[in-house]
Amino acid sequence: MKIARVESFRVAAQRDYEGSAGLRPAVPAKPRAGTTALNLNTGRHLCIYAAQAEALLVRITTDDGLAGWGEAHSPPIPRVAQTLIADLFAPQLVGRDPLAIDAIWDALYTSMRLRGYSTGVMLEALAGVDIALWDLAGKALGQPVYKLLGGPYRTKIPCYLSGVPGSTVEQRVEHAKQLVALGFTAMKTSIGRGSLDADLEGVEAIIDAVRGKANVLVDAHGVYDARSATEAGRRLERAGAGWLEDPLPPEDVDGYAALCAALDLPVASGEAECTRWQFHDKLRRRAADVILPDVCRAGGITEGRKIALVADLYNVPWCVHASISTPVHLAAGIHLAAATPNFLLCEYPNAFRAGPLANALLTKPIAYAEGHLLVPDAPGLGITFNEQALAARVLDPYEPVG
Ligand SMILES: [Mg+2]
Repeated sequence: MKIARVESFRVAAQRDYEGSAGLRPAVPAKPRAGTTALNLNTGRHLCIYAAQAEALLVRITTDDGLAGWGEAHSPPIPRVAQTLIADLFAPQLVGRDPLAIDAIWDALYTSMRLRGYSTGVMLEALAGVDIALWDLAGKALGQPVYKLLGGPYRTKIPCYLSGVPGSTVEQRVEHAKQLVALGFTAMKTSIGRGSLDADLEGVEAIIDAVRGKANVLVDAHGVYDARSATEAGRRLERAGAGWLEDPLPPEDVDGYAALCAALDLPVASGEAECTRWQFHDKLRRRAADVILPDVCRAGGITEGRKIALVADLYNVPWCVHASISTPVHLAAGIHLAAATPNFLLCEYPNAFRAGPLANALLTKPIAYAEGHLLVPDAPGLGITFNEQALAARVLDPYEPVG
């Protein structure tokens, strides 16, 4: 069995589902009024989000006609990962044994390393290829990916709903209660876009509404300085939040270490890091209580497994980070979650639950039940695209498998 073809396809859909913010240009955090805490990051920008939901799917086909699917996260610039895959990776892949996954990962990773391309979109493109190879391996061997990885530690993957919809505190509180009724025991909401006081009051209202029934996790998107982050953390600690995510810019590793030492509330981060070396730097400096690697950004399943192992050396749990993406992203995350001992929680984005690029693309949905995602048991990633539904979302020339 040899790799015959490597293709990638941009998929897109309107973000018109409930809870979608539509186009989200960079929004600066506002300073906190009337306190001594200055937010030195005022005026700094959060991430750009695309106006539409979009992702880059990767399809690798063998000479005997078997196809595996991967995803390179790469919003909002999927064309960059697409070019890397077509011009840099595909020529190295065609003709190789697709089961040599670790050796292939290393060859692709080192192909541009000395030129400084060892993170970011390079790793997203590599993730797309790697996940497709794992899907292919599972299909070739007739086994789900989590078994090839040595699992399961678990087949029901605990998850949290990410993004409590609503434009007012009252709406978000109401939604939080509905999520509890759906069986969620954890949910995540955002701060960092308004004043610290208003942000925290909103979060405290949600925590109060679901207290004793669900954990409320809080994501600050890296916008605070040390003083504001400490103040936010202490107040969230008193309120009973589950964790504080990305309070500081990702480059401020010493700041994270100081915050982890100052707070009892767990500090979570890691969606910006892409490799075991980046995570190791953070972990050895005790700068994270929980890490959040994104399997479609952090080099795929192969690297994700190594990142989980490095975290385990420091007795730190990891969580699946997921975002606006296709079922390939979520499936890859939950297979890895099923096969690693120090997994904690899977992010289940509202964008996935309600979004147009999610279960609607599959012949059979990834199942949710009572706060858990059920890891698919069919060979490979265990998901099958509804080719008609997929073709309707693909922006590039597309032919179904076979
Ligand atoms: Mg986050």
